[in-house]
Amino acid sequence: MIVNLLNNNHSYSIQKIKNINEWVPGKLFSITLTKDKNFFFKAGQFTRIGFEIENHDNKEKNIIWRAYSMVSSPNEGDLEFYYVIVPNGQFSKILSKLDIDQTVFVRKQSFGFLTVDQFQKSNDNLWLIATGTGISAYISILKDNKTWDYFKKIILVHSVRKTEELTYQTIINKIKEKQSIIGNILNYVPITTKENTHNILHERLPIIIENGILEKKAEEILDCKSSSVMLCGNPAMLLDVRRILIERGFATKNSDDSKNLVMENYW
Ligand SMILES: Cc1cc2nc3c(=O)[nH]c(=O)nc-3n(C[C@H](O)[C@H](O)[C@H](O)COP(=O)(O)OP(=O)(O)OC[C@H]3O[C@@H](n4cnc5c(N)ncnc54)[C@H](O)[C@@H]3O)c2cc1C
Repeated sequence: MIVNLLNNNHSYSIQKIKNINEWVPGKLFSITLTKDKNFFFKAGQFTRIGFEIENHDNKEKNIIWRAYSMVSSPNEGDLEFYYVIVPNGQFSKILSKLDIDQTVFVRKQSFGFLTVDQFQKSNDNLWLIATGTGISAYISILKDNKTWDYFKKIILVHSVRKTEELTYQTIINKIKEKQSIIGNILNYVPITTKENTHNILHERLPIIIENGILEKKAEEILDCKSSSVMLCGNPAMLLDVRRILIERGFATKNSDDSKNLVMENYW
């Protein structure tokens, strides 16, 4: 009852942690939370999650917030978030100590434009290009059936430092199998920049886009007439790849308001 009253009076709801998954010890985790039945979002969007902290000087309690992309799809009953523990990060310090049943504050509003309805349905294929935890938004997008009304072929490119950070592969493979039955294609292209593993690309994204190696591996042309592109994650990657794509004719906004490039910086 108290929880319900609080939920109604604030811009956030109060949820509980149902599960914590440790992907890479001490570094990469995901949490599953209960979900407010009135929380709506589009696949690819983010919200803000918060925890109460006490001010050491005056002992007052405040809520500290950070933005996180939903990993779960809009019609799933729970909410999932995937996160990295940044050394010395204020919020990361809290995230590194979470427990099952712990309370988490979740903003009632969802935000962001990393959504398929930004594009025309006429484009042939969609490239989802992420570094690190940027894959969060794309798992939500890939799980959502609406995405596959827009695009019949999707290329998911995930660039990380080490092989162990190539997470969510079981889910990616399941989606690939499910979509192939109805004639859709999901090509998954992993990249490890700090480890050279057999059959995995080992080079920074801007380089393998410019020299054509990414297209060869993806078995698809990255062309502004047939492709739509999403970029998500590290701002330095976004800046470099955006420049290359704009040189190739991609646009975040054309004169007729259409676009074939959308992006989301994580910091
Ligand atoms: C729209 C949006 C969506 C986001 N979604 C996610 C998400 O799904 N998962 C997630 O882990 N983070 C996500 N973030 C980042 C998140 O909000 C926090 O910044 C991050 O968790 C670190 O918080 P912090 O207080 O510990 O450190 P901060 O003080 O916020 O950041 C300190 C430094 O850590 C580095 N950093 C921050 N976030 C990341 C990251 N994700 N990967 C690598 N380095 C990082 C940057 O160098 C940054 O300057 C998102 C950010 C935005 C703006």
